[in-house]
Amino acid sequence: DCRNADDVTRAVKEHDISFVQFWFVDVLGNLKSFQVTPSELDEAFEEGMGFDGSSIEGFSRIHESDMLAYPDPTTFQIVSWRPMERPVARMFCDIKNPDGSPYEGDSRYVLKRILGKAAEDGYSFYVGPELEFFLFESSREPKTLDFGGYFDAPPLDLANDIRRDIINALINMGIVVEYSHHEVAPSQHEIDLRYQEALKMADTAVTYRVIAKEVARRHGCYATFMPKPLFGENGSGMHVHQSLFKNGRNVFYDPDAPDNLSKECRNYISGLLEHANEITAVCNQWVNSYKRLVPGYEAPVYVAWARRNRSSLVRVPMYKPGKEKATRVELRSPDPACNPYLAFACMLASGLKGMEKKYPLPEAVEEDIFEMNEEERKKHNIPSLPGSLFEAVEVLEKSAVVRQALGEHIFNNFIANKKIEWNNYRIQVTEYELKKYLPLL
Ligand code: GLU
Ligand code: MG
Ligand code: MG
Repeated sequence: DCRNADDVTRAVKEHDISFVQFWFVDVLGNLKSFQVTPSELDEAFEEGMGFDGSSIEGFSRIHESDMLAYPDPTTFQIVSWRPMERPVARMFCDIKNPDGSPYEGDSRYVLKRILGKAAEDGYSFYVGPELEFFLFESSREPKTLDFGGYFDAPPLDLANDIRRDIINALINMGIVVEYSHHEVAPSQHEIDLRYQEALKMADTAVTYRVIAKEVARRHGCYATFMPKPLFGENGSGMHVHQSLFKNGRNVFYDPDAPDNLSKECRNYISGLLEHANEITAVCNQWVNSYKRLVPGYEAPVYVAWARRNRSSLVRVPMYKPGKEKATRVELRSPDPACNPYLAFACMLASGLKGMEKKYPLPEAVEEDIFEMNEEERKKHNIPSLPGSLFEAVEVLEKSAVVRQALGEHIFNNFIANKKIEWNNYRIQVTEYELKKYLPLL
């Protein structure tokens, strides 16, 4: 593991690295990359590598397009799915303006900024995302590879080989994998990672998506993180387990409190619930995301919290009661096609706001909310998540918490981008409509 530029220089020599990929993401979390030869590295560490930001989604306008990418030496890793002879390595980059100031449109900077704010109060933010994905024959149509279901151990098939290769590729890049399994839907899989400090985990989530796609491609298939590719089946979520540590102790754990949940933890949950609708557009950023957030498919629809109940938005898992480090809060709405930097930033902003404002925490709802009718939900005071990207963006636009967390630049660019997406979608005439209306009207 490299700690600084010198470590990287040494590793590059030792492993005879041919190229170093510089990685960063655009405002939607799409990976951007360019290749640098080892001879340029010294200069890159000192002065950054220049590039034109004007054609990157959510980056700069034409007249201020010169950006600098500064590689973060602590993220240096050999790319595990490329040939091992004269291997390729990668580093994540911080994006800066020509004057050396951090660039407001850099998602990584947005997350760093709020993590820095939390650190001022002594908090480190840890997250454990569960990214689900589908394996299909190709990207042209959602043709499944198997008929497995939850935890099924089918006779060794292609999907099994692919999952094993993905896990190996993850491990070879220093990512700690805890366990993996077949998910509920056919051809749906999940690989769970050991919880980690949020910035590192956001980098890891981006890496995970690339690895899954690259490995699947090598097997002649396609891995997708699309939230809801199959009508009538579960979609793919990215539940995010969250905890705050202070002086090496889990702030969410209190041995003397009922359920071992500290006051801080309850306040954090209150913040997640209070701001849930405002952060939805960021955690669920596509038109298709809202096809997943519907009743009946283990994805949340209503804003409530619970200990066991999987229909709730926030769950406090009780796998190991009394275990300090394992005490955590699970947000179940995000999907794996989000920008993890911005999503983690929004979650933390909401939770911290809850700790600051101490919103009243509603009762935990242990009944299945999907079974309740509207009246019962009203009685329990359970609101719904936004039902579409349009609704989500409307709520987002009014959110002071998200505006502050993302900063003006990303906040405005993100909203503008999403409005365009919605308007493009709105004018489509879908197959559903033709089937339903043409014979009828
Ligand atoms: N696939 C479900 C979702 O969309 C989650 C299933 C589970 O892991 O509990 O969130
Ligand atoms: Mg799952
Ligand atoms: Mg989960």
